[in-house]
Parts: sequence; C-alpha cells; structure tokens
Amino acid sequence: MWGGRAGALLRVWGLRPAWSPRRRPLSCNAASQARSNSPRCWKCGGSPGGPTGEDILFCPRCRALQPPDPTRDYFSLMDCNRSFRVDTMKLQHRYQQLQRLVHPDFFSQRSQTEKDFSVKHSTLVNDAYKTLLAPLSRGLYLLKLRGIEIPEGTDEMDKQFLVEIMEINEKLAEAQHEGAVNEIESIVAVKQKECIDSASRAFEQDDFEKAKEILTKMRYLLNVEEKIKLKKIPL
Ligand SMILES: [Zn+2]
Repeated sequence: MWGGRAGALLRVWGLRPAWSPRRRPLSCNAASQARSNSPRCWKCGGSPGGPTGEDILFCPRCRALQPPDPTRDYFSLMDCNRSFRVDTMKLQHRYQQLQRLVHPDFFSQRSQTEKDFSVKHSTLVNDAYKTLLAPLSRGLYLLKLRGIEIPEGTDEMDKQFLVEIMEINEKLAEAQHEGAVNEIESIVAVKQKECIDSASRAFEQDDFEKAKEILTKMRYLLNVEEKIKLKKIPL
C-alpha cells in the first residue's frame, strides 16, 4: 500500500512503518485547520487533500507523522459526540486505536521531529481519554468549552448538601471497621449516581448553571471518595 519513493527509502533504511498495512491510510490535511493557511506536510511540503476535521496523522505522500491539530477538542479527537453521555467502550476502543498509531514506541527508528510529535500526540490522547472517561472531568471540560469555569473553593453551595457532606465526613472519621466504611461508600456511590443522572439531564437541556451546580457537588463527593480509599488502605 505504500509505494512511492518515500516508502522505498524507508524500506532501504530498514525502517518499519508505524502503521499496519491493513489500516486504512489516514488522509493528511496538514494536521490542522489552524494551519489551514499553509496546509502542507512539514517534511515533504505536500498538499494534504481530503476534508478537514479527520484523522490527519500521516502525510499521504511521505507518510511522515504530522503534528497534533491544536484546534481539535477532545471530543473530536476521540470521535465522540460533544455530550455528557459518552459510550465508554467506544471511547476505550478509540483510545487504543490512536495509541496504536502514535505511541512513541513505534517511532524509535524515525526522525527526532516525528519522535517529538509522537510524544505530543500520545500525551494528548492520554489526556483526552482520561478527561472524557470520568464524568466529573468530562462535565468540567464540556463547561470549559463553553467558557464556563468553576473556581475551586469559591462555590455558593446548597447548605443542605454541605451538611450532608459534613455528616458523611464525620461518620467516616469515626468509622472503626470495614463494614462501616463500606456502608459510607455505598451512600456516596448512590449520591454520585444521582449527580451523574442530573448532570446528564442538565447538559441535555443546555442548562449550564444547573450543570455547574451539580458538578460542584460531584467535586465534594469525589473528595469524600478519595478519603474513603485512603481509609481502606491498611496502615
Ligand atoms: Zn509529506
């Protein structure tokens, strides 16, 4: 599948391509809409061709790895709808698919430029995967894309919720045996589930104020969850 001079040269040098022959060739459109003013391969100067917004990892002409597209958000990169509801199986599949293409291990025989790009791609794919996998970070990221940030510690919280959190924290501090900790853990899990469902509804209704409020609660719950984990580690 990869005839042409560049392919022949790579074969001569004994370099293995970082893509498998059964994968469909990824079109190069110079890796970036941001670079659309000069959508050229950094290595051969070839014109990309093909529509924008696709996977533009390798130049179709010289097969050089292109730099990451800075205009692409995590949802686009991970081939997910920009939504709070994410198919985590699909997300995981996409993560593995991208890592098989860009992981630095596959670029040990390539130029320094491509090594650097592969590290950047790989880091980006990791960050995107982690961010979209966890409901809280996914929600915060969705809000961020809309220019809404939730500053830490400055939240106007629902008083009743804060009292509940305080009580859970007290119970946890007093818990002497595993059964008690497990009980608190299931209470927190139920609350988290409720929050995830409410956040889904809020995002579906484009009610970002509500989403913000729920994600703030989720931050408190995550904090309790971390304390539970610490308590479970045998000292
Ligand atoms: Zn090229």
